[in-house]
Amino acid sequence: MNDMSFSMDHHWLPFTNNKLFHAEPQMFQKAKGVRYWTPEGREILDGSSGLFTCAAGHGRQEIAEAVYAQIQELDYTPHFQRAAPISFKLAEKLAGILPEGLDRVFFASSGSEAVDSAMKICLAYHKAKGEPQRTKFVSRAWGYHGVNLGGTSLAGMVGNRRDFGGVTCDVVHMRHTWNEEQRFTKGQPEDGADLALDLEEICKTYGPETIAAVFVEPIAGSIGTVVPPKGYLNKLREIADKYGILLVFDEVITGFGRTGSAFASQEFGVTPDVMTMAKALTNGAIPMSAVAVKREIQEAVISSVQADRPELMHGYTYSAHPVACAAALATLKIYEDDKLFEHGKALSEVFLDGVFSLRNLPQVSDLRGYGMMSGIQLTPGDTPGAKGSIVQRRLFAEGLHVKATGDALIFAPALVSTEDDLAAMVDVLRKVLGASD
Ligand code: PLP
Repeated sequence: MNDMSFSMDHHWLPFTNNKLFHAEPQMFQKAKGVRYWTPEGREILDGSSGLFTCAAGHGRQEIAEAVYAQIQELDYTPHFQRAAPISFKLAEKLAGILPEGLDRVFFASSGSEAVDSAMKICLAYHKAKGEPQRTKFVSRAWGYHGVNLGGTSLAGMVGNRRDFGGVTCDVVHMRHTWNEEQRFTKGQPEDGADLALDLEEICKTYGPETIAAVFVEPIAGSIGTVVPPKGYLNKLREIADKYGILLVFDEVITGFGRTGSAFASQEFGVTPDVMTMAKALTNGAIPMSAVAVKREIQEAVISSVQADRPELMHGYTYSAHPVACAAALATLKIYEDDKLFEHGKALSEVFLDGVFSLRNLPQVSDLRGYGMMSGIQLTPGDTPGAKGSIVQRRLFAEGLHVKATGDALIFAPALVSTEDDLAAMVDVLRKVLGASD
């Protein structure tokens, strides 16, 4: 099991400095609950729920059993002109927890695929409604929407765009919502809703009739948890409605209880037209993502095509994979049976108190947080953007896994964490962030 006699030359790791990794590998061999173990048997607390995937904790027996049973029963079915009952059951179950009205579900395998699928659905919708000229998208600086070409175009994180300039789609960016006055704000900042007026300005510049959709993460996750100012999302909704622009929430991180409600949309009381989700949909055990759309969007696309051909010329070999559906159904049952969204909501205060207890440490320049997700902005080093991975390695050495981006850490433990688990994670953070350089 613990065979370490292999070459590391052949696997090209994503979003990784491969040279550094080879010099000092950081590997996980097994996981249970909120803990990983390295191949050497060292315990590492999981401060980022894997990659915001494992909300119900690692190694859930119920999911393993459902996956095993599904592979034996029906390991694969194509979904082009074919289907299996299990995907309809999953879509129905999801419709039960999605915001009211968003009850048509398209499946894919990753967050990136969900985002690009959502973009294409928006384009197909406008074409079906007789507005094929709506081909422009609006997104936001500091946004992350995966790495496929559509998502890369939407991205507002410069590092994710600069190497791929020649292949991007037509996207205009609004400003991000962070400013100096928000430093060390717990929860939603009071001021800043008017930043949503950037969408109005973009409409004036380009003509609203050219814009298909506006994509935002309700809480910008990958940049380091930037929480929207009060009223900001409502204002985006109003402007989108005024101009017939679709509002898309990318809930790949914020979905499935991370904010205290099933989705951030419900938490903030703003319903988008389209929503993407992935990660915790299967508790990270099997790749799966989904796009939920309002009923009228699906109906418009479906009714616009009379000929005997697919209405949406889009889909993946692994769309609605039956094994992924089984994992998702088992995961949703855990969330429901164990009342995990409610548990996460109840735990949030203790969690955020723990995060904000780090305020005066020398390595901390800002703290942000909502629900069970937080951002720890690090005091930058000589090379801007390099501090995150340096601190991430130090944390690993001290027994804590946390996702880093640029000069920020994204600390977002599993919803099943106990108060003791959280305290142990915060202790490691305190030790490492308390160092003077
Ligand atoms: N959208 C958001 C908001 C994300 O946070 C992510 C991943 O972190 C993605 C899309 C892409 O998901 P994936 O890595 O599964 O393609």
